[in-house]
Amino acid sequence: MITTPQARTLERKSVVYNFSAGPAMLPAPVLKKAQSELINWRGLGISVMEISHRDPVYLQMTEECEQDLRDLMSIPSNYAVLFMHGGGRGQFSALPQNLAKGDDQLDYLNTGIWSDYAIREAKKYVRQVNSLNVMGEEDGLKCVKPQAEWQLNANAAYFHYCPNETVDGIALHQVPEVSVPVVADMSSVILSEPLDVSKFGVIYAGAQKNIGPSGFAVVIIRKDLLETQQERVCTVMNYKVQAEEKSLYNTPNTFAWYLAAEVFKWVKAEGGLAAMAELNQRKSALLYECVDNSRFYRNTIHGRNRSKMNIPFQLADESLNAQFLKEAEAEGLIMLKGHRFVGGMRASMYNAMPYAGAQALVDFMTRFEKAYAK
Ligand SMILES: *Cc1c(COP(=O)(O)O)cnc(C)c1O
Repeated sequence: MITTPQARTLERKSVVYNFSAGPAMLPAPVLKKAQSELINWRGLGISVMEISHRDPVYLQMTEECEQDLRDLMSIPSNYAVLFMHGGGRGQFSALPQNLAKGDDQLDYLNTGIWSDYAIREAKKYVRQVNSLNVMGEEDGLKCVKPQAEWQLNANAAYFHYCPNETVDGIALHQVPEVSVPVVADMSSVILSEPLDVSKFGVIYAGAQKNIGPSGFAVVIIRKDLLETQQERVCTVMNYKVQAEEKSLYNTPNTFAWYLAAEVFKWVKAEGGLAAMAELNQRKSALLYECVDNSRFYRNTIHGRNRSKMNIPFQLADESLNAQFLKEAEAEGLIMLKGHRFVGGMRASMYNAMPYAGAQALVDFMTRFEKAYAK
């Protein structure tokens, strides 16, 4: 039995595939590079954590970081890029304070757990937050109702949605066509495929899924939207201040920023977002095919709204859950337990997950089914 964290480390196979939803696996070459330069960064003889965030060497890193992200996502010049504190949920509070007045109206699409948290937070700062309950069912499968059925408000200060619901495994693969600025929580889908940034007012993402360490966030905002904040906005969360200060109003999470910069370089070297999209498509198709071709496993989300990043699946016989997890872990396939709200299993496969990881999971699932199917 693997019980303690220590035992876990000792018993790990040489190859471990980490399916954690977040904080999630980082690209191995990035971790190796960070390790190799940990005590001597850019020839300074000290680590990146021990240097002023206003030192020219550090500033050069932040500039490269922003440029790499701009290159990767083709971010137009009328957008500012902010590197902020407080992860994804920090932005749940920052958005309404920065983009709306207290008596404005806001539209929030409610497609799952993260949308719902965002809505609850927005209600603290803006009186009228319309929660658009758009989840429906088709052929017995969960789906997002077509846009024609959404009760949109043309007077909303902005429209918020979560293109990839990390817990529920529900995705919107098209950007909604609305007449107000679109704000998207891309925490678990940013950098996974090419995107037309110009369709958005704000794109934001907590870093710990596809960018780097937790507690850090990226905000991409159309510059004209920097002008509408409430009278009192917590200064470190003030988009306008952070844009003017190049995200250096106070001491940023310098190590997280550095690792994010290394991840961007890695994505570029791998061929950019087109290459990521192709890889993510192949990995997710492989796993969905395995689930769909079996009566032993199931996924209850309509094909139209299936996530390519987070794939929840259930065993038909839930009493086998513990056995499944134990055997998977013994094979180096770890962190497959579903979210506590959803149960079952969940495989998160962000950019850093190689195709071999998806293949190893599917091979294991096929063997497990053969061994336990009645
Ligand atoms: C993980 C996640 C968050 C929350 O991020 P924190 O950094 O924990 O605040 C928000 N939205 C989505 C879609 C997420 O996946």
